[in-house]
Amino acid sequence: MTNSMTPKDKRLLPKEGQEQATLMNWAKMQSWRWPEIALLFHIPNGGGRSKAEAGRFKAEGVKAGVPDLFLPVPRGEYHGLFIELKRQAGGRVSAEQKEWIEKLRDQGYRVEVCRGWEAAAELLREYLGLEVTNTDKYDVVWGGFVTIDASARLEPGPDPRTLIGVNRG
Ligand SMILES: [Mg+2]
Repeated sequence: MTNSMTPKDKRLLPKEGQEQATLMNWAKMQSWRWPEIALLFHIPNGGGRSKAEAGRFKAEGVKAGVPDLFLPVPRGEYHGLFIELKRQAGGRVSAEQKEWIEKLRDQGYRVEVCRGWEAAAELLREYLGLEVTNTDKYDVVWGGFVTIDASARLEPGPDPRTLIGVNRG
């Protein structure tokens, strides 16, 4: 699709910020299924800012190339998921971004570049569908899971299927 697009077509595509806002809306609507998706947040290290602001942010720890979004939720072999979001066409991955992506992967994080909110939603769906790994906090019930607090155990009671996806923690 994108190959046949003219520069004018590409200008009409949503901006990265619009893609991201749409993704966050989508994520909000998925919380019935994965309560922990509410932990998805944006790391605001991009966008225009004055020289003075840029200097202050840098001093306070903002770093160029850090991915846009982080989901601090372990799944499968990963500690968490970083997403570098781009427009559907035209956005390029900078050298700093490539470096961060590699270093975060080395630390055991899943890191992907997604073009458009739909690609990011697909990735989140896939990632959250991986095996739940912090089993001291979660009990797997009938293929779903419920969060439990550290001291509580699930007791036999109501049909566990009614508990799937319910956040008790
Ligand atoms: Mg980005």
